[in-house]
Amino acid sequence: MQISLKNRLMAFFLAALAVVLTAFSFAIYFFARLHLNQQLEDRAGATLETLVAASEVHPNGLEWQPDIHKITFWHEDQPTIWAVFDQSGTMIDCPPNQSFPVGNFSKSSEPVNLISQSNFKYGGQDWRVFQIKLDSGHSIRIEMDPLKVLYKELVFMTAWPLKSQSSSLSLKYLSWTLILVAGSAWGMAAVLGRWFCQKALLPLSEMTRDVDRITADQLSYRLKPPSTRDELQSLSEAFNELMDRLELSFAKQSRFTSEASHQMRTPLTALMGQLDVALRRDRDTLEYKRVLTSSRNQVVRLQKIVELLLFLARADAESKASSLEWIELTQWLKHQLKASWGEHLRYTDIKLEFEDHQLVHLQSHSAMLTQAIDNFIDNAMKYSEPGTAIMIRLINQPDTTIIEVEDHGKGIKESDLSQVFDPFFRSSDNRNRGVDGFGLGLAIVARIASALDADYSVRSKLGEGSIFQLAFHHNTSQKPIFSNQSHLS
Ligand code: ADP
Repeated sequence: MQISLKNRLMAFFLAALAVVLTAFSFAIYFFARLHLNQQLEDRAGATLETLVAASEVHPNGLEWQPDIHKITFWHEDQPTIWAVFDQSGTMIDCPPNQSFPVGNFSKSSEPVNLISQSNFKYGGQDWRVFQIKLDSGHSIRIEMDPLKVLYKELVFMTAWPLKSQSSSLSLKYLSWTLILVAGSAWGMAAVLGRWFCQKALLPLSEMTRDVDRITADQLSYRLKPPSTRDELQSLSEAFNELMDRLELSFAKQSRFTSEASHQMRTPLTALMGQLDVALRRDRDTLEYKRVLTSSRNQVVRLQKIVELLLFLARADAESKASSLEWIELTQWLKHQLKASWGEHLRYTDIKLEFEDHQLVHLQSHSAMLTQAIDNFIDNAMKYSEPGTAIMIRLINQPDTTIIEVEDHGKGIKESDLSQVFDPFFRSSDNRNRGVDGFGLGLAIVARIASALDADYSVRSKLGEGSIFQLAFHHNTSQKPIFSNQSHLS
């Protein structure tokens, strides 16, 4: 089931509100009960105080005068339950017609002058019984006056129902009020929240509508960022930037495809033409041999293009798939240069330059690194005169290792510099003069550099020469190890 963002937000909001309102209502209910309990204790305390005040302290004992101090308390139209006991637990006074079993509470467990409390069940109701004991500190002594009886101890008790009629009513009233208030607050929040959510998410709905309009043929379409100065504005700006990059990448891809098909069509057309002409009539063996040799050259060219394109497509994946190895660059470069260019006529033009007595270790992919350096050297040889030096430099900096290829050839026009690493780019001069090449060598270097997390760059001056660089930045896992070495042969 699909839930819209608006409904999801609402559900979260309402659930949170329900929890808060319930907790709030319970808290109020709890404090109200506490308050009623306190009230009960206050009333009981007041009853006991009145009873205590009705007794008189004489030098020889305590006096209770039931006839003089006939006390009746009323609460909610009910006579309050109370009783007075002497030290032996005999009840000496209580209101008339009182049925509560007061006899159970003739002794107080608390020390003198302290109110004790205990709960009791009677008549299907919960009661709280409060007691207080007074002690005269004397033994019993009967006065001459028979009306004046003195007691050693007096125990006063009073009992109160835990749920009085009025407190039950107020609690019931309170709980209904809380349910109603919380319920209507929740309902109002649901209606208002829905409206607010709709308003808050309006820019998002508009963005979704706009994004729906974007198709592969309409990559230039951009979102109108809402001026909300919030995450939604940042999101739409980020989306537009993503679209910029995508559009550029799509344009590059389609340029690449059309260039690639064009590059492949040229040798294919030439091949077809040669074969058609050859098949038009019977030819002697020599003629067939010439046509076949020429056709083979076109096939070799095609094969080369396909290989280069495949390399371009695979470079990233291959570098990720194969594990990197530690290479000691000074020895490795010497070895690779000899292996790749040892048979070349211009091998003697290649000069390797690095700080002596130093070994440079780099974690890299040997085959890819060879390919990138070979492409630089291949160009240097193509675009500089035989006999001019081609310098290969290994430069060590504290946080970067640079491999540099410099030639003293024709150089590159400033306007071309930013494009030389684009696939199929060839300077117009080279195209016109029919210099061999596909414009893929430097694109491959760029791809290799990105696969090896390296930077690539070019500096050039027309008529003076060019310098191409690959820079490897050291991170913790790729810290170069510099060590001394006596001499490299
Ligand atoms: P290709 O050399 O096959 O044309 P590249 O991708 O290797 O393709 O080079 C792209 C373009 O960059 C070349 O056509 C050339 O115009 C320019 N270029 C590359 N290297 C050099 C260099 N060392 N000197 C002058 N121009 C160069």
